[in-house]
Amino acid sequence: MELTIVAINCDLPFFEYLKRELEENLKARITLRSINLPLQAYSEERKQFDAKKLLDTLLLLMMTETGGRTVGITEKDIYFDGMNFIFGMGNLGGRHCIISTARLNPAFYGQKDDEKFKKRLLKEVYHELGHTMGLMHCKEKNCVMSFSNSLDEVDSKGKDYCPNCNEKGKK
Ligand SMILES: [Zn+2]
Ligand SMILES: [Zn+2]
Repeated sequence: MELTIVAINCDLPFFEYLKRELEENLKARITLRSINLPLQAYSEERKQFDAKKLLDTLLLLMMTETGGRTVGITEKDIYFDGMNFIFGMGNLGGRHCIISTARLNPAFYGQKDDEKFKKRLLKEVYHELGHTMGLMHCKEKNCVMSFSNSLDEVDSKGKDYCPNCNEKGKK
């Protein structure tokens, strides 16, 4: 799969690690791009960025590219509709997804743990990419497609697709 990672006005943490993992496990060919933060996605009221609007920005950016998928990564906190925050969002069966590192970063909680941080980021990338492959949330607790509402849940699940999701994702 062709995969563009878009750093949205941030130093992408652990890019080499992500690249290696994605190349190996998804046979992805990775391109890195960076863009400025689309300020129209900012909600003055919530002091957060609207995930849907960030996705729209990716859509526009990648409009002329045929095929391939896009993962946008921002360090800003993002939200969607009725939720206080989200770790990420992917269009079901679409091509683009967006991930916020804000709350994946142990620094948010006054800690420093790069190992934890990079695993969380990788799991989020797999999870949101899974949605773009048409995968829904999985009941298998250890599957990377299981729904995570909290960091504990992110930390305790595995980074792989369960055999079922793996099979479906290939189609
Ligand atoms: Zn999900
Ligand atoms: Zn699964």
